[in-house]
Amino acid sequence: MLADYAEYDQAIGLDWYALDPNLGFLLDRYLPEDEVRKFAEEHVAEYGELVGKTLAARAEVTDAHGPMLNRYDRWGYDVGEVQHHPAWVANKADLVRTGFVGLEAHAGRSVPAVVTAARSYLLSQCETAAYCALGMTSGAADIVERHAPESIRDLYLTRLHSLDPDVAWEGGMFLSERQGGSDVGANTTRAVPDGGEWLLFGDKHFCSNVDADVFIVLARPEGAPEGTRGLATFIVPSRQEDGSPNGFRIKRLKPKLGTVGVPTGEVTLEGARAWLAGGRDEAPGESAARDGRGINRMMEMVNSSRFGVALMGLGIHRRSFLEAAIYAARRTQWGQRIDRYPLVRETLVDLLVDLEAGLSITFECAGAMRGATDLEEARLVRRILIPLAKMRATRVALRAASDALEVFGGNGYMHDWPIARQLRDAQCHTIWEGTENILAIDVRRSIRGEGAHLALGNRIDRALEAASGHRVLAGALDVVARTRREAWGAIDVLAGAPEDEALLKSRRMAELLADTAEAALLLEEAAWSLEREADGRKAAVAGRFVRRRLADAPLRGLLVEDRVVLDHFEPLIRYGAIDPGVLAA
Ligand SMILES: Cc1cc2nc3c(=O)[nH]c(=O)nc-3n(C[C@H](O)[C@H](O)[C@H](O)COP(=O)(O)OP(=O)(O)OC[C@H]3O[C@@H](n4cnc5c(N)ncnc54)[C@H](O)[C@@H]3O)c2cc1C
Repeated sequence: MLADYAEYDQAIGLDWYALDPNLGFLLDRYLPEDEVRKFAEEHVAEYGELVGKTLAARAEVTDAHGPMLNRYDRWGYDVGEVQHHPAWVANKADLVRTGFVGLEAHAGRSVPAVVTAARSYLLSQCETAAYCALGMTSGAADIVERHAPESIRDLYLTRLHSLDPDVAWEGGMFLSERQGGSDVGANTTRAVPDGGEWLLFGDKHFCSNVDADVFIVLARPEGAPEGTRGLATFIVPSRQEDGSPNGFRIKRLKPKLGTVGVPTGEVTLEGARAWLAGGRDEAPGESAARDGRGINRMMEMVNSSRFGVALMGLGIHRRSFLEAAIYAARRTQWGQRIDRYPLVRETLVDLLVDLEAGLSITFECAGAMRGATDLEEARLVRRILIPLAKMRATRVALRAASDALEVFGGNGYMHDWPIARQLRDAQCHTIWEGTENILAIDVRRSIRGEGAHLALGNRIDRALEAASGHRVLAGALDVVARTRREAWGAIDVLAGAPEDEALLKSRRMAELLADTAEAALLLEEAAWSLEREADGRKAAVAGRFVRRRLADAPLRGLLVEDRVVLDHFEPLIRYGAIDPGVLAA
């Protein structure tokens, strides 16, 4: 069991991996091979220390001293340079050096997605703004690797993967325009052919990491049809080879509510030289500009970003829990620690239960191959789980930050305590990379277009099968199995509903699918923990989640006997073992 949280003053300065045995548990589950697990331990543990002890303190400084746009240099030339506080620069330099983007180059081997996810989750606990900047750098590098013409590919990749902060490049993505972020089919930025290259003209309205070096940009080749099928994806450096601006002007930085460190700007492209992201096997010219698949190439980056944003939500959620647990252990009212009061205990336990639920589906996105029968099933599970994880983790994080803030009482509302920033930052993540509605519609698209729910249903069935045979899980298992049957039945019924009604229900449907998947995967984790260590802690977590989210509980559950919060508070929040024999089935 971890030490009593009362021994700490605050989360900053601690080793955040050592304090999070559930993260080690997930690595054990998803990385069963000893050698890979050892590699994961080394690189994830490194981040527990780096983030908790060094980056987190600087992130507070960055939040108070955000970037500024210096429009002109002292000669009066329009340079449009972004000036950062040294704390932001130092954090990114440490992340670059430790291979946040270029870990494969750093480690000289392939890196499991679960390891990258674990490091991103830790980073998000201190500053999702820094993850935004470097996460988009990874995404841009992937697009360059897969789709850049040979003439620029190696140079760009070397820079984007570099471990040297002095030469490393960063990336960004420009989709949204003034007239629409959800409906990118309304984009008006034009692409004009110029020899084998292109020139882009237009305005982009939300451009995060706006002073990065290379951007992945949606634009419409001249003469291409309207709508999304007429769009193409381009690779655009911010500077030309001689260092002069590449037809690129930052109009202003946006005055944001949160995620202050990363500059988000409005940009005008005035003939920016661009390369078509056209696929290695295609001629990087006209055909790829008008093949109707330009949007698909951009969606590769959007999907990996959506997964990253789910991890941002989880990071904020975890930080909120940790800070609240420490504060509640130290604060006294009426002569005793407030974490002795049942209502505070319920808040802390449910913060943790929802966190472990969110982690279950998000890590499944990273490790889908482990639980799937073949590559195609893994692809489809990821296809539907990524939007579900993003909508679930970001919405719940907002609630988690708000609940944690309230544990701090009036102090929580003040900038000199750590939670107010988490709440401000959390509000961003439900919006960027697609709002909750757009994600719910995307889930529906994955069901109607690709039958992705069938693959997810199979995965859930296997999880439930793994959890069968444990008396302590039996009650929860029945509830989840029934929900699985009925929810998938409802999908079939809604397929025949009028379009407006089906759309009206799409968000509720996505929420139900997320709940069912989370519950099933928690039960599978619980069974594994029972079999491996005869430990019932995860069973208590899964049972609590199912009772709150899926079980029929008239009168708000007031008459259901559920003493888990009261009887197992310490091992739940301090990750101790629970004897399964004492848990009710
Ligand atoms: C801090 C920040 C940074 C950002 N950085 C970037 C960036 O780097 N690059 C980039 O390209 N974009 C970026 N964005 C833009 C972001 O992706 C968009 O704001 C987002 O996709 C929503 O688009 P919108 O703002 O145009 O809202 P709208 O599309 O106008 O949506 C407004 C509301 O209408 C709802 N809505 C829209 N269509 C439907 C529908 N069909 N059914 C149901 N509801 C609907 C939405 O859910 C939303 O609630 C950033 C945004 C923020 C806040």
